[in-house]
Amino acid sequence: MSIQTINPNNNQVVKSFTEMPPEAVEAAMIQAEKAFVLWRKTVYSKRANLLHMVAMIMRERKEELAAMITLEMGKLLDQSRGEIDLSADIFDYYALNGENFLGDKILDPKQGEALIRHSPIGILLGVEPWNFPFYQVARFAAPNIMIGNVVLVKHASNVPQCGIVIEEIFKTAGAPNGIYTNLLISGPRASVLAADDRIKGVSLTGSEAAGSSIAAVAGKNLKKSVLELGGNDAFIVLEDADIDQAVSWAVIGRMNNTGQCCVAAKRFIVIDSIADEFLSKFKAMLIDLKVGDPMDVETELGPLSSEKAAADLADQVQRSVDAGAKVVLGGKRLDRPGAFMAVTILTDLKPGMAAYSEELFGPVASFYRVKNDEEAIMLANDSSFGLGGSVFTKDIERGKRIADQIDTGMVFINHPTWTTPELPFGGTKHSGYGRELSSLGIDEFVNKKLIRVSALTDAF
Ligand code: NAP
Repeated sequence: MSIQTINPNNNQVVKSFTEMPPEAVEAAMIQAEKAFVLWRKTVYSKRANLLHMVAMIMRERKEELAAMITLEMGKLLDQSRGEIDLSADIFDYYALNGENFLGDKILDPKQGEALIRHSPIGILLGVEPWNFPFYQVARFAAPNIMIGNVVLVKHASNVPQCGIVIEEIFKTAGAPNGIYTNLLISGPRASVLAADDRIKGVSLTGSEAAGSSIAAVAGKNLKKSVLELGGNDAFIVLEDADIDQAVSWAVIGRMNNTGQCCVAAKRFIVIDSIADEFLSKFKAMLIDLKVGDPMDVETELGPLSSEKAAADLADQVQRSVDAGAKVVLGGKRLDRPGAFMAVTILTDLKPGMAAYSEELFGPVASFYRVKNDEEAIMLANDSSFGLGGSVFTKDIERGKRIADQIDTGMVFINHPTWTTPELPFGGTKHSGYGRELSSLGIDEFVNKKLIRVSALTDAF
């Protein structure tokens, strides 16, 4: 696997990196072990200061870091700026709330005292994807460093500069060596590394294949894993919804990050009586998006993250069309250099087609008409994934009833699935297990130790 920055706007190689040899990974592990011995004994305020510093440096260097994201994976520059802000907010959030989340939980035994104390568990391995190169790392690193754990991070091979600069930011912020280490290694080597006894837990955000590979190693070696995998989120629009508002959110929900979000709205499920109106308004907004260089702030549709990503997506669309799907818009690669795919809407989708069951990671919307709420729920749940989803309706109680019956980790009413530091993030089914962000995200790699004090007068 080559570790390279390739600009997806023109598919030119910008910079190549050499993988770390095994000796360098071993040295990083030894350093992390030493760091953990000291870090676990630090007070929360010291850890919080480090996280605040990381947040401050990210904000100070926002323009440079945002340009790095855009160069390496093609995100629109303004969205890259937003990602840096959100990442900094996550570091601040755990700095401000971590001590409170991790405080002793006093129990109420019949006699004496009992409490739950939260202790760190050691070195964690995080494997991260390219689609949000800073935000994904923040979700993993911020809560775990606040707990007192130390982290080794294997970032995606197409965003090496982002991976390297995050470690540098930690160093500038004053992190002792070994608290945060970036590993320039391939994915399969990360799975092998997960077996190492010194690693106490693994967290992976990415594809099902990578998730099951690393989780198998973790399970075999009796250590905990958290998996944040793909999604095929339903975006349900009921007949009483504000259609214009729903269409505007549909465009953002599908097109944010050029459609490369795990929680992007991917399947648009609309009640028959308003389906034509929704589809024609949706198409009219998508057709107008201005294609171009993601560094240009006027651009509304940039490239996908890589040539392979664009080719794979075009292949999924073609296989669906070959199986009978209809193309309402787009359907092909754009005729220009770079990893560009046309904004696409597919209809007439049936089980067995690629677009029905696979995750489409790019600007391709799958459109379905349904008769009623029950059909909408059945279709939404007819997926191996269970990440997010949304329901658009003016009747909030009806929206909640539907939300209750959708088998995913998150459902939003009158909004596409979204993320903020205070809201838990994660899925069910093949979308993974465990949660990141909020108070739940600091609860995964922590020893919840019971301390029980018997009264001296307790009888034997
Ligand atoms: P991917 O290929 O699985 O890559 C993700 C990370 O896993 C990369 O660092 C990759 O390294 C590594 N990796 C690959 N094979 C591995 C293996 N056998 N063992 C251990 N690590 C391995 O994922 P992708 O297709 O690029 O990313 C998009 C996927 O991530 C989508 O399915 C998306 O929905 C999902 N995602 C989920 C969430 C969530 O929170 N649920 C968030 C964002 C993205 P290399 O780059 O070196 O191959």
